[in-house]
Amino acid sequence: MDIGKVGIVGGGQMGGGIAEVCARAGLDVIVSEISEEAVAASRRGVEKSFSRAVERGKLTAEQLDSAMDLLKFTTDLGDLADRDLVVEAVVENEDLKRSIFAGLDEIVDSPDAILASNTSSIPITRIAGVTERPEMVVGMHFFNPAPVMPLVEIVHGVLTSDATAARAATFAAERLGKVVVHAQDRAGFIVNMLLVPYIVDAIRMFESGFASKEDIDTGMMNGAGYPMGPLTLGDLIGLDTMLFVAESLYEEYREARYAPPPLLKRMVEAGLLGRKAGRGFYTYD
Ligand code: NAD
Repeated sequence: MDIGKVGIVGGGQMGGGIAEVCARAGLDVIVSEISEEAVAASRRGVEKSFSRAVERGKLTAEQLDSAMDLLKFTTDLGDLADRDLVVEAVVENEDLKRSIFAGLDEIVDSPDAILASNTSSIPITRIAGVTERPEMVVGMHFFNPAPVMPLVEIVHGVLTSDATAARAATFAAERLGKVVVHAQDRAGFIVNMLLVPYIVDAIRMFESGFASKEDIDTGMMNGAGYPMGPLTLGDLIGLDTMLFVAESLYEEYREARYAPPPLLKRMVEAGLLGRKAGRGFYTYD
């Protein structure tokens, strides 16, 4: 079955980006959000990103119009009934994600529809467990910002069928033009399992007073070839997301290198969540 109609649950940083990627690929997209205010914020976010793409010459004004025409927003999850693929991208909270998947299981009509989660750290097997169709549930882990970052990790839950994982991978590669890798259902998958301890180590280094944040970032950019330093990257990902993923990795593996440093916890408690909050390790306009 070809995937033509896509639903996105949660139109924030990631969901908005995934919606944009799908609309630019000519797919019919409905984004489900929690309130009218959240719908307005999500629409503004996508429009802003589209405008930037036009300014940079990556998209023509006509392409922008036709992509925006393909994009609908709703506050009613029930509007996703006819979707061939739903990608859940709400905040990283297991109870919330489980309740959304229980709802999608009731709502989405087609037995062939794929139910995917963009979770960074919650086991797909646990999310799939609330549905009557765990073989149709898979992880599709996009990277931030989704319209720019090429990678999608396809995460195989214990009960995900090979056919579902293969269809999700083919869709991401051929319809969305993404680079696909496959990972088993372990906290962190491939990329975060390697990336998060690196950023957490950089936070520890800064916290210990060993080096300034600017010097840590400058060092890794100019000495190790990274396009941005680890503290700038933490701000971009969102320090709340960083904390949650580090805690999930620590819970899964019980290795000290994954344990979030106190400074990261305090910054999140203070609302210094990084770029999206205007302040994290650095200050943003
Ligand atoms: P975000 O806070 O920017 O967006 C979450 C959105 O979910 C918000 O717009 C919120 O209104 C909406 N939402 C909350 N409850 C909802 C509900 N019941 N129904 C519909 N919408 C609801 O968060 P984000 O950074 O986009 O992260 C979303 C998911 O993507 C998380 O699982 C996160 O782990 C994962 N992820 C994040 C990144 C990243 O770099 N930020 C990268 C890859 C994956």
